[in-house]
Amino acid sequence: AASEVATPKRTKEIIGRYGFSFKKSLGQNFLIDQNILNKIVAAAELDPSKGALEIGPGIGALTQQLAQAAGRVTAVEIDNRLIPILKDVLSENDNVEVVHGDVLKLDLAELIERQFKEMSGVSVVANLPYYVTTPILMKLLEEKLPLEHIVVMIQKEVAERMAAKPGGKAYGSLSVAVQYYCEPKLICTVPHTVFIPQPNVDSAVIKLSLRDKPPVDVKSESYFFRVVQASFAQRRKTITNNLGAFVGKEHREALIELLQGCGIDPARRGETLSLSEFAAVSDALLATGW
Ligand code: SAM
Repeated sequence: AASEVATPKRTKEIIGRYGFSFKKSLGQNFLIDQNILNKIVAAAELDPSKGALEIGPGIGALTQQLAQAAGRVTAVEIDNRLIPILKDVLSENDNVEVVHGDVLKLDLAELIERQFKEMSGVSVVANLPYYVTTPILMKLLEEKLPLEHIVVMIQKEVAERMAAKPGGKAYGSLSVAVQYYCEPKLICTVPHTVFIPQPNVDSAVIKLSLRDKPPVDVKSESYFFRVVQASFAQRRKTITNNLGAFVGKEHREALIELLQGCGIDPARRGETLSLSEFAAVSDALLATGW
């Protein structure tokens, strides 16, 4: 339709009309490709009974499509210069509410409860500002928000790390953290030419479907994540060396026995351990009281 925001012509026209200037520091790269938007929206599995929480609506390219697919849309935008533009662009979409704020500072549990009470499910759908991708996603996951899916456009390399399986270079503490909470799926990669202005990295759309419960049982989640972090502290080192630095060198011999007791060769590197192996090591270490 002629009113779609996500075309080069319409985006330039809106930018010009309001004299808007992009702020690189806010990760402002606006999408100008309807096909990519369609893929993002399709991946989110929305219908009129569902709510969509958008982070960083920009001038409303994705917001517009979400308004058509979901029952209700709430879009959180940090840049106050965009608020009047969004009001104008979305004036015909009466199921959209724009909230001015920093998503990292908002009480999202309260926002979701307030905005989507009558919805049968809520998903986050966004083209995220790249400078804060990981903090935003970790906030969404750690706060255990009642979400079905998180479908986001992010830097391609970060998407690959989130979806990585043990054994490869991309697998690290981010992979373990994301996969503890979600089932990741790469939807598509996206060239930098579909944005204004063009970012200098490639992008990808990733879908994170939240699990009902974690794939592994651990006695302490916070300790589990500390063990994972410690295991990747120095990627070239073995699990024995990395965990030795974490528990104290005086426990080295006992640590080797503990790893063997978990069925793990002490010469392996952290990047080869599965979530269930990390869980076993974490519970065994916690029990020692070192
Ligand atoms: N959704 C639009 C699109 O796809 O064309 C814009 C996406 S742009 C990559 C990221 C947007 O997030 C910008 O509008 C930016 O102002 C906004 N933003 C940046 N940091 C934010 C934060 N902490 N909280 C909320 N919005 C933020």
